[in-house]
Amino acid sequence: MVKPFMPELVYVEPKAMEYPLGKKLIDRFQDMDIEIRETTSHNQVRNLPGDNHFQKYRMAKSTLVVGLRKTLKFDTSKPSAEYAIPLATGCMGHCHYCYLQTTMGSKPYIRTYVNVEEVLEQADKYMAERAPEFTRFEASCTSDIVGIDHLTHSLKYAIEHFGESEYGKLRFVTKFAHVDHLLDAKHNGKTRFRFSINDDYVIKYFEPGTSKLDERLEAARKIAEADYPLGFIVAPIYLHDGWREGYAEMFEKLDNQIPEFARKDLTFEFIQHRFTQPAKRTIEQNYPMTKLELDETKRKKKFGKYGISKFVYKDEEQEEMKNKMQEYLQRHFPTAKFEYFT
Ligand code: SF4
Repeated sequence: MVKPFMPELVYVEPKAMEYPLGKKLIDRFQDMDIEIRETTSHNQVRNLPGDNHFQKYRMAKSTLVVGLRKTLKFDTSKPSAEYAIPLATGCMGHCHYCYLQTTMGSKPYIRTYVNVEEVLEQADKYMAERAPEFTRFEASCTSDIVGIDHLTHSLKYAIEHFGESEYGKLRFVTKFAHVDHLLDAKHNGKTRFRFSINDDYVIKYFEPGTSKLDERLEAARKIAEADYPLGFIVAPIYLHDGWREGYAEMFEKLDNQIPEFARKDLTFEFIQHRFTQPAKRTIEQNYPMTKLELDETKRKKKFGKYGISKFVYKDEEQEEMKNKMQEYLQRHFPTAKFEYFT
């Protein structure tokens, strides 16, 4: 059982203490005797303890920075949402293939923004610009927001905010099972709660520090019972010895957990494993013992944006993978919505 995240070291921007959430968090960490340091900006945290990159990286993943979100211009998040809503950046998980390893580079520490009201006011402006069209916001572009929310409740606040809105919708994805505080949030069906899932083998070897499959599925059942629209992202689909059986078992477990009434509005997304050469270098530096197969010669090269190529599975492997996933989906969840395979 992965315990809910608690930082080993905390940094705080002085201005964050002027916000109720900033003060509440720091009071709590002080009571717990967690070391607290000041920083002028959440972008400039230096001197993390550790003698080498390996130690500093691990320390960063256990460090929480309590700061303010200064840039209130949201990034776009097409095609699944119009905007990425910034509530936090970074994650305490240690997934070897995490997208944050390349996007966050030298700043792998976790940042939470205490000016949630200002962030939500900005979201309201975006919604007003598009009304009467709905505006969708994605909350997990830069973090696994659920993994940290048991401390901050910012996500819960946002869920209720969008629940009350006329034209707003929220979505996010998580690999964490710490959802109990979100069960009574007044979401009004406006939040789609997605779980990222994988078979036991992949979670065991490549997703340390996140909740196990059984824990995620139990959390998904609770979320379904709390009447949230639910979804699953099977990602990354990874070909290992026994993958067909592994994913078959994952779907069986899922079938045992998800109540019948939640299947009317259930979505599935499938994403195969891929890597870029910059990502491979970062993975080998941060997780030198990884068993993750990153051999370019075994993959198909796909030219990507900004001149960086991705290495995906070969066509016949992709075909088999896609067919298997659809077979399992049909067998267990014939009424669910298959969104895409990529
Ligand atoms: Fe990255 Fe998600 Fe794993 Fe966190 S849980 S390390 S955001 S892949």
